Amino acid sequence: MTSKQKILEILNSAKTENRRELSEMESKSLLEAWGIPVNRTALARDVDEAVRIGREIRYPLVLKIASPDIIHKSDAKGVMVGISSELELKQAFNEIIKNAREYKPGARILGVTIQEYLPPAREVIVGAIQDPSFGATVMFGLGGIWVEVLKDISFRLAPLTIEEAKEMIKEIKGYPVLAGIRGTPPADIEALASLIQKVGQLAYEFPEIAEMDLNPVFVFNEGKGAVAVDARIVLGEGK
Ligand code: ADP
Ligand code: MG
Repeated sequence: MTSKQKILEILNSAKTENRRELSEMESKSLLEAWGIPVNRTALARDVDEAVRIGREIRYPLVLKIASPDIIHKSDAKGVMVGISSELELKQAFNEIIKNAREYKPGARILGVTIQEYLPPAREVIVGAIQDPSFGATVMFGLGGIWVEVLKDISFRLAPLTIEEAKEMIKEIKGYPVLAGIRGTPPADIEALASLIQKVGQLAYEFPEIAEMDLNPVFVFNEGKGAVAVDARIVLGEGK
């Protein structure tokens, strides 16, 4: 199957069920099919399945609530990072389900995703939308307050070249955080630019993708890559 066929299959399964939002799992599978690095992620519907998946992915693990009714998983105490044993995994699984029920009674709960843990890195946000007049548009910023409070974001129309992606990275005020300051080694700008370029191409070639949000992308030191650890894709009408 080609990457386009795989992507259409994921988009169609959502459409058939009349869903506008892809789950974190589906979003990551779609990105992976397009060659965008994501951390290993699998859905566990019960504790036994969680244990089985945990053995395959290897500890430490990250567990996250999988619910179409919970968008901000951390707000629901639905993200647990650095799970290092089977005992912890079982406790975390039950705790996450309990927290989600308390946070939003009646929320549909698919289960808990069991994920590969990635070591601390610089966290950035890469997104895309279909602008009503300009079409596929890519956005980039550093995580947290840089985007939410300081609005330190750059935009480009898609499709964009690697060079344009690099300009996007360099034009935010927070760029020194990635370039390396006070003895901090530089982040992997090449890998990040390639990821941004691919997100742009994806949004451009699939206008039915109304919104894409890779938040966060972990950017490791130079030569070590960039990986999306959370992703959300919303579908629209397309063109
Ligand atoms: P949400 O945005 O829905 O609250 P995220 O999946 O973005 O949930 O997780 C919240 C935070 O947890 C991330 O910003 C990141 O710092 C951390 N995190 C998420 N996944 C991983 C992972 N696989 N490895 C290490 N840290 C992670
Ligand atoms: Mg997130």
